[in-house]
Amino acid sequence: MFADMSYILYVLVPTMALTMFAQWRVKSAFNKWAAVPNGRGLNSVETAQVIMRHVGLENVEIDRVPGQLTDYYDPRDKSIHLSDSTVSQPSVAGMAIVAHELGHAEQDKVGNVMLKARAALVPAANIGSNLGIWVVFGGIMLQQDYLAWVGIALFGAAVAFTLVTLPVEFDASRRAKKYLRDTGLVTEAEYKGVDSVLDAAALTYVAAAASSVLTLLYYVSLISGRRD
Ligand SMILES: [Zn+2]
Repeated sequence: MFADMSYILYVLVPTMALTMFAQWRVKSAFNKWAAVPNGRGLNSVETAQVIMRHVGLENVEIDRVPGQLTDYYDPRDKSIHLSDSTVSQPSVAGMAIVAHELGHAEQDKVGNVMLKARAALVPAANIGSNLGIWVVFGGIMLQQDYLAWVGIALFGAAVAFTLVTLPVEFDASRRAKKYLRDTGLVTEAEYKGVDSVLDAAALTYVAAAASSVLTLLYYVSLISGRRD
């Protein structure tokens, strides 16, 4: 049941291909522009300080986090957490990433609706992504359609999370590009690198959303199909 042919053909192969392509794109864009020093010679902490003054985000804290491309903004502690790979070199990629995380900080400050919706979906999405599929299969095995549809609804919360993530991420990158332009932190040539890094990162979220929608559609077709 887990490995039937239509699942492999219509869900597993396309989602794996898309995910791997997105990961390759983000890695190659990051590696390329992490090796290009920015003209201002600012590391990401210094870049953050310039943008924070410019946007009025002085209350945001800057924290370190281990790993590569593990940077994130946490609305709970109002901190951007910057990875070692971003902080270590004064690169174009580092500027793009720190500006993006500050985009999330500004979304939080102005009460962006999509950011709030995403935060509200986190608990349901966590439960739904783990439990949803098992409830679907439980419903199918016990021949209880209503139970299978409960599973679909649970998994639907996880799908909704990946979909709401898209406008949140696109908006953070749009803000990031504006900060870097308005502050004159990047040259026209460096701006190309910023574009390339942020667009590649956006593609990973598109891949995640597409995968979750495909998976959901597959389970819906499985339940609807076994009625007759
Ligand atoms: Zn983001």
